[in-house]
Amino acid sequence: MTGWRDGALCAQVDMALFFPGKGESCAAAKSICRRCEVQFECLEESVAQAIPHGIWGGRAAVERRRLIAARHRMQQSFNNEQEVA
Ligand code: SF4
Repeated sequence: MTGWRDGALCAQVDMALFFPGKGESCAAAKSICRRCEVQFECLEESVAQAIPHGIWGGRAAVERRRLIAARHRMQQSFNNEQEVA
């Protein structure tokens, strides 16, 4: 099977880096993500699936939840504008 995961840089390192424990740094994982050629695809899949754990696409779960919330607000704003127009 081929797909964006074939380009995942994290497949070459210890995956535990991407699932830091409470209070542990996620800086090392994010540094790897910044150099990963499939960062965008990875982030989009994790957002689409609302994956609740780990570092995906260079973002921690709390950052992905903020991104999802921001997108919902933008969509709601767009919908409201369409209703007024
Ligand atoms: S962006 Fe990060 S988590 Fe996603 S595939 Fe690349 S290295 Fe792995």
